[in-house]
Amino acid sequence: MNQESGSVLIAARQAQEVWGALSPAERCHRLAPMTDVLSARMREFVEVIHAENGKARFEALGHEVVPAIDYLKWLNKETPRLLADKPITLKTFIHRRARERRLPFGVMLVISPWNLPLFIPLSSVAAALYAGNAVVLKPSEVTPRSARIIEALLEPCALPEGLFQIVEGDGAVGARLIEEGPDKLMFTGSVATGRKVMAACAAHPIPLTLELGGVDAMIVCADADLEYAASAAAWGATFNHGQICASVERILVEEPVRARFEAALIDRLERINVESDLGRITFEGQRGTLEAHLDDARARGLEIPTGGRLLDARRLAPTLVRGEGVMEAAVWREETFGPIVASAPFKDDDEAVALHNATRFGLTASVFSRDTRRANAIADRLRCGLVSINDLGATLYGQPEVPWGGNRQSGFGRSHGSEGLIECTWPRVVEEPRVDKFEPKRPWWYPYDLKQYQAFEALGHALAADSKPKKIKHFAQMGRSLMGMLSRVPRL
Ligand code: NAD
Repeated sequence: MNQESGSVLIAARQAQEVWGALSPAERCHRLAPMTDVLSARMREFVEVIHAENGKARFEALGHEVVPAIDYLKWLNKETPRLLADKPITLKTFIHRRARERRLPFGVMLVISPWNLPLFIPLSSVAAALYAGNAVVLKPSEVTPRSARIIEALLEPCALPEGLFQIVEGDGAVGARLIEEGPDKLMFTGSVATGRKVMAACAAHPIPLTLELGGVDAMIVCADADLEYAASAAAWGATFNHGQICASVERILVEEPVRARFEAALIDRLERINVESDLGRITFEGQRGTLEAHLDDARARGLEIPTGGRLLDARRLAPTLVRGEGVMEAAVWREETFGPIVASAPFKDDDEAVALHNATRFGLTASVFSRDTRRANAIADRLRCGLVSINDLGATLYGQPEVPWGGNRQSGFGRSHGSEGLIECTWPRVVEEPRVDKFEPKRPWWYPYDLKQYQAFEALGHALAADSKPKKIKHFAQMGRSLMGMLSRVPRL
């Protein structure tokens, strides 16, 4: 399945003709064995991910394998319902009826990152296949072995040859695949690469979904359970060594409890078992960003009350940055992708919302408060794709029903949930008469004349006056002549 790019799309298109012709229920039946393989070979897959990405074994299991089973089961159950033909009620053309069918794009290209090296590519690949597409996957060059697990999952499914193919390689390979003109691209990665792939897609054009980075914030209100919130922050900022698009990078904490919350957070950060739980910098290049962001913080005279130093070549001690001017620092404004979190105070809800929204990104956020009405009111004003109250936004990636994605520079389009599946399809509408009756012409066909013009003018006024019945009376005269025309249109 590892072919030279060039022949991949041709083979994929041929296979898709067969696959796309199956009903959604038939595709579900064929893809169902994937979860059996995941469950039977769980420990083996956990070892592959742990070794290649460096995350703790528990995270390979709990953040990748188990949510993948949950998501695949959900797809298997929901796909037939979500992709079923839907009738469209025609309000004005009551003599006709219409239905919408969701069709696969054809060949979907999935380009994925290294930080969730199984679950991210698997989510996109599975949704695309369930929707009836062929898929070409270009996994991150940093974690190709984890992506190969998807091949093992599909082995018992007896898919048409070429329906799923992996093309390994770096960004240049990804760029070449886009040039070959897939029918849709699902891209997950950095903003910088997202810009390039969007520009490349524009040349064709190829529709695309972009899942990009974030500087996700946690808002801690004074009435929050501070011990719980500190535990959440310590985990949310550092799991997978902080290499998570939705990791907590910014904390806004209400001024009166700031000192208590930060003390609890420092305590939690210092108690993380860095040997067994923290994970590691997955590849060398990532270390430079962490060092640059820490240098920037120091140059600005910010406080680093804990962490701030490399434990070895692949581990940074969990780090808190705070102080006057922290919001201008790189740790606040740019994605760090490391176990570093920055904190700043807010005085009231308006300020918390304003500070949260003062960023180019908008992936997830979380609000911690015992007052759920207040937390919801704040959540409703946050400009981002997902908000969790008294839990972390990142956790929503593990919930199959939840449409995942951001806005602004965090990207657009969704994976997971009904939207994620629908994004792998396009709609075709078929409209037909309820009863066939062929008149000489429809009232809007040639030749145009004054009577016809007046009738449509009356129709426009009547439609506009829908909520003001008196006006309809005013146009009754005109309307009658329109009805005369419409009466010539076949009806039930
Ligand atoms: P990256 O942008 O460097 O690479 C992502 C993928 O794009 C890789 O497979 C890479 O080979 C490929 N690529 C690079 N240049 C390309 C080009 N010109 N044309 C086509 N493909 C190209 O990102 P990364 O370092 O692998 O991943 C980390 C980033 O991903 C972070 O910014 C993180 O926030 C983001 N991310 C976002 C989500 C989300 O759901 N929003 C999830 C995980 C990761």
